[in-house]
Amino acid sequence: MCGIVGYIGTQPAVPIILEGLKRLEYRGYDSAGLAVCCGDNQLQVRRAQGKLRNLEKAIQLNPAEGFYGIGHTRWATHGRPTEENAHPHRDCKGDIVVVHNGIVENYLSLKQQLQAEGHVFQTETDTEVIAHLVEKHFQGNLEEAVRATVKELTGVFAMAVISRSDQSKIVAARSGPPVVIGLGDQEFFVASDVTAILAHTQDMLFLDDGEMAILTPTGAQLCDFDGRQVSRQVSRILWNPIEVEKGGYQHFMLKEICEQPRAVRDTTLGRVGLDTGRIFLNEMDIAPAEFSQFRQVRIIACGTSWHAALAGKFMIERLARVPVEVDYSSEFRYRDPIVSEHTLTVVISQSGETADTLAAQREAKQKGSKTLAICNVAGSMITREAAGTIYTHAGPEIGVASTKAFTCQLTALFILAMRLGQANHSLDESTSRCLMQELLGIPGKLEEVLSNDAVYEALARRLHHFRNALFLGRGIHYPIALEGALKLKEISYIHAEGYPAGEMKHGPNALIDENLPVVVLATRDPASSESRVLYEKTLSNIQEVKARDGLVIAVVTEGDDDARKIADHVIEIPRTSELLAPILEIVPLQLMASYRRAPRLRRGSAAQSRQKCDGRVTARAPV
Ligand code: GLU
Repeated sequence: MCGIVGYIGTQPAVPIILEGLKRLEYRGYDSAGLAVCCGDNQLQVRRAQGKLRNLEKAIQLNPAEGFYGIGHTRWATHGRPTEENAHPHRDCKGDIVVVHNGIVENYLSLKQQLQAEGHVFQTETDTEVIAHLVEKHFQGNLEEAVRATVKELTGVFAMAVISRSDQSKIVAARSGPPVVIGLGDQEFFVASDVTAILAHTQDMLFLDDGEMAILTPTGAQLCDFDGRQVSRQVSRILWNPIEVEKGGYQHFMLKEICEQPRAVRDTTLGRVGLDTGRIFLNEMDIAPAEFSQFRQVRIIACGTSWHAALAGKFMIERLARVPVEVDYSSEFRYRDPIVSEHTLTVVISQSGETADTLAAQREAKQKGSKTLAICNVAGSMITREAAGTIYTHAGPEIGVASTKAFTCQLTALFILAMRLGQANHSLDESTSRCLMQELLGIPGKLEEVLSNDAVYEALARRLHHFRNALFLGRGIHYPIALEGALKLKEISYIHAEGYPAGEMKHGPNALIDENLPVVVLATRDPASSESRVLYEKTLSNIQEVKARDGLVIAVVTEGDDDARKIADHVIEIPRTSELLAPILEIVPLQLMASYRRAPRLRRGSAAQSRQKCDGRVTARAPV
């Protein structure tokens, strides 16, 4: 994932582009660059390998000025991560510059053809062919040249292009990766993600695949690749720009972990009517009666959202008694899946722009299924294509590893499960009310979990010298084992695996010894007989690990002395309904992963972090 930012308006473009690129740092990058154009017809390009501050230094040494320009953080796919290969890329004459996110799959044949026509290439990248193609097609009008260019490309791209021969214009195009246009007051922006430009405007236009935007100092126009004008409703992103600041936390992930009580509370707001016992999902084009007509639910997602989907299966099957299938977005459309008009397809994506999830959604729609999105970004692509959306109100998620979006997705799935259960009459009113009470109590319980972060810090230290870890769970706790392992991998770069605890005896038990820490999800809901059975079985799994000298960290329900007797360490979480426990269980695992990160990345002491966590959580007035 790379990042694109562009600006055209009345202010100096360089600081705005640099600031936007900083907001996209979470996407990862190996080099960065920008190009700006000033009144004297000069295109100035600055690039640097490595961190963004190297680009800032290069600009300090050799300043660049202009009122419009484009910038890029690169994550190399074709060509080494050197300064030469950093974007923006130029045509032969240096008249046209391009930033590109994605892969031009047919770049080799295009390059050969362009070279045969006399074009001289400077870099090893696939992107450079775009600059030369625009040059080839340029006859005084940049958007026409870009339009002719995109028709020759195969692969995926988001791009922004400027030319000194067609001044005061940025042309952007999308086929795959996201492109958002920001509308300001006599200034316009283009970016890969709203967070890059949210400090300047909350009014956004999201490009669809096959669309272009032409930005000038007086406006932004959308059209398709055939030049037909496109009208698009402006999406107002109601996030507070302050939310995209770290706010004194060491890093965004820690901030976002600590925001979970607020985020989960906001996700339930207006949807849970305790007085009526009803769930309200009014934001959709699915008639209330239709909810009882689905014979199957299919949930499609990637990564962390896929783990939420897996937990959602347990919630929906338990509360609504409808069979649920869970699919990886990247697998779904390649197997001619069996979907009908009686299937409700739920697509989950934090950004609403995940390319595989969008493609899967289209496949399901084409087969006659209604699609419902669970998404964090208003107006994003999957929400526009869905019959309805349950928005998670997590606020901007900037940390590399998803945290608050995950717990909000679990919350949204629980609400959906209740809604389906009420429609099917499989959930009676008194059970509904009990579950609602429990759900509304979750934010307070999250605050309790967060307040114990000294425990997680100590355990993270305990894990420090291990190179592998195993996470075990049964039932709805198994997806949390998967997610806990993923957090550790993403953040600490150590190998971790999530496994269904009951499957360990079929081979993996052989791996366990004193060098393998095992985190076991062993909570229980005394009110549920299924939960009690699973809990007993999980205790046996802990015994098996101990019998092989494994180090056990068990996540248990407060007051559980049985697990405490056999585990090496326990993490207690407050008592709640079994289907809601995942929202609490994941938080200690997120914090352990965050604290286990390489010490050089961790600044400040545990006490400071704890203070920040406590400060953020308890100082907030209840909503
Ligand atoms: N394929 C292009 C390159 O390697 C763009 C990669 C990216 O999306 O950052 O330069």
